[in-house]
Amino acid sequence: MRAEDHPDAEKVFQKLRKKLPTLSLDTVYRTLALLNDLGVITTLGGSRERTRFDGNLDHHHHFVCTCCGLTADFYSDKLNSLKMPDSLADIGQVTQTHVEVRGICKKCLNKVSKQIKSDNSTRKRSRE
Ligand SMILES: [Zn+2]
Ligand SMILES: [Zn+2]
Repeated sequence: MRAEDHPDAEKVFQKLRKKLPTLSLDTVYRTLALLNDLGVITTLGGSRERTRFDGNLDHHHHFVCTCCGLTADFYSDKLNSLKMPDSLADIGQVTQTHVEVRGICKKCLNKVSKQIKSDNSTRKRSRE
């Protein structure tokens, strides 16, 4: 598993199954939950979303592409020491600050700009 990967349990299962044909998805879920409890991996997203697992344990932040769902790690000392509002103390104690930036990745941007270009050219052609 590459550190930049953020697979969900099913992806982990598919990868491992080639080597361990007797493995069940349930075992993968239980093992990942255990690794999470031990702090070996962390989970991403809220509980309502499909849980994904992060093999990168360095303090890092995420860029999430809203088009394709790509989750890329990035590092920022500034964000690591981000000052949280005092009002948070009413809710609980902050143990880690994790920033999730949403946007459109380069790959998707390329696709979009190509689409716009081809849209323009078809519009021009229809006018002629
Ligand atoms: Zn994308
Ligand atoms: Zn990550």
